[in-house]
Amino acid sequence: MTTTALRVTSDPAAMALELDALRRQGRSVGLVPTMGALHVGHASLIRRAAAECDAVVVSVFVNPLQFGSRDDLDAYPRRLAEDALSAADAGATWVFAPTPAEMYPEGFGTTVHIGGITERMEGAARPGHFDGVTTVVTKLFAVAGRGRAYFGEKDFQQLQVVRRLARDLSLPVEVIGCPTVRAADGLALSSRNARLTPPQRAAAPVLHQALQAGVALVRSGVRDPVAVRAAMVREIAGQPLVVLDYAEVVDPETLAPPTASGGPLRLLVAARRGPIRLIDNLPA
Ligand code: AMP
Repeated sequence: MTTTALRVTSDPAAMALELDALRRQGRSVGLVPTMGALHVGHASLIRRAAAECDAVVVSVFVNPLQFGSRDDLDAYPRRLAEDALSAADAGATWVFAPTPAEMYPEGFGTTVHIGGITERMEGAARPGHFDGVTTVVTKLFAVAGRGRAYFGEKDFQQLQVVRRLARDLSLPVEVIGCPTVRAADGLALSSRNARLTPPQRAAAPVLHQALQAGVALVRSGVRDPVAVRAAMVREIAGQPLVVLDYAEVVDPETLAPPTASGGPLRLLVAARRGPIRLIDNLPA
């Protein structure tokens, strides 16, 4: 595999200046926001960005604002040197890896809040989480400037929240959703999977199985959200190592209960295994 020459910076102002200079030369910029511990799922976003943009910035920042618990934040894997190699391998030209003090210097006092679509599912389970996401993404978009930004469908509610953010604030960023990359047994790849014990890891594909059961029901003509939800709940209840947090059937645009008959649906599930949260979703 060829490796692009990679440059790394932690300084938001320097990053912004570099990207402004590239745009002045007529080059397009793609941003891939991550919290690091890069895996094949992240690499798929970086490859897509590299195929569509001249310069690709992978941001690596474990954003303290979006974590509810200090333990989860501290336990989050950090391995910047390896991440830089993986990012370069996938076609990144820049890694932007600021420290918390560089992103949120003394006196930082801004919170970006979106109502409505942030309130259910992950927003209900993790109070303050989406304020942390929208605040950091606004800042990352300000640093990266005009261009495209790539987000995974794996975090579907987050993707829709970021789309809404860009639209509501007229940010000069085209938000692009990329398909979920899964392990062979269906488990969506996640940096948090590394923290599962072998029995927990063996149980985790039940989320994907529950979603597939829901999709099969919809395809068979059953669109009643109560019935589809019950099928997903039943599947997860059969796996005692995984505790269901929510199973939802929603309109993919509004993330509210579906209204239109016959329109597309999105099925989403979340579960806990000890302190580790697993989430997944599929279109139906
Ligand atoms: P994270 O580092 O977990 O914040 O993820 C950074 C980006 O990668 C987000 O847009 C995620 O949705 C995306 N991502 C994480 N896991 C996957 C996956 N398995 N497939 C596709 N995208 C993913």
